[in-house]
Amino acid sequence: MKIKCPKCKEDAELAMDFSLVKCGSCDFEMSYGEYVKFIAHNEAKYSDILGDYTGSTEGQSSGSLDEWD
Ligand SMILES: [Zn+2]
Repeated sequence: MKIKCPKCKEDAELAMDFSLVKCGSCDFEMSYGEYVKFIAHNEAKYSDILGDYTGSTEGQSSGSLDEWD
């Protein structure tokens, strides 16, 4: 199935058995377990960025990560 490549943001392919994530647009390739950790790490970074952003724009809604797609 298609998932988002965390490296180039293009479509990456997740193997049917969830064993491997591979992107055809760049050289990204890792096991799904590693991919999840990679995403979790990046999400944490984004959260920090968004936290700083919302902290400096008081009064506005915190928004959604969906808007970053
Ligand atoms: Zn990619």
